[in-house]
Amino acid sequence: MDYKFEQVKIVGGIGADDEFWRGLERGEFCLPTCASCNTWMWPAHFRCGSCGAWEMRWNVVEPKGKIFTWTRSWYAFDRVSERAEDVPYVSAVVEIPHAGGARVMGMFDGTMDGLNEDPRIGTDVVGHILPPSEKTKGYPSIVWRPVASGLRA
Ligand SMILES: [Zn+2]
Repeated sequence: MDYKFEQVKIVGGIGADDEFWRGLERGEFCLPTCASCNTWMWPAHFRCGSCGAWEMRWNVVEPKGKIFTWTRSWYAFDRVSERAEDVPYVSAVVEIPHAGGARVMGMFDGTMDGLNEDPRIGTDVVGHILPPSEKTKGYPSIVWRPVASGLRA
């Protein structure tokens, strides 16, 4: 797929999670399991930590989970200067119970129905896949939004 944005390879990335990004480009949220023992493997590795197998299987997973932790950035640091206009913004780590408790990072957007909800640990969220942009260095991204029914319970 061609994008008008140049992808800047993520510093320190070793490629084990390339299929995660390809999945997001297709509009799918995919997480890996070991092809031998079915253990969830996130963050992605080249080798299973449970059985030592080298093959993994990528599974389309429903992007639903609970906020495990979050932080608010008040400063546009050098490596994310593209987000300067969004400051302050919230990043969240979301635990996916139906994927072995995998914890996946993304942006948090609590704006719904004219309200702006603060993130809270344990809040039920749904992931929405956003197309590549300059803000995301040419990669697709995921933004976590509160599930409406859980928001005001
Ligand atoms: Zn395994």
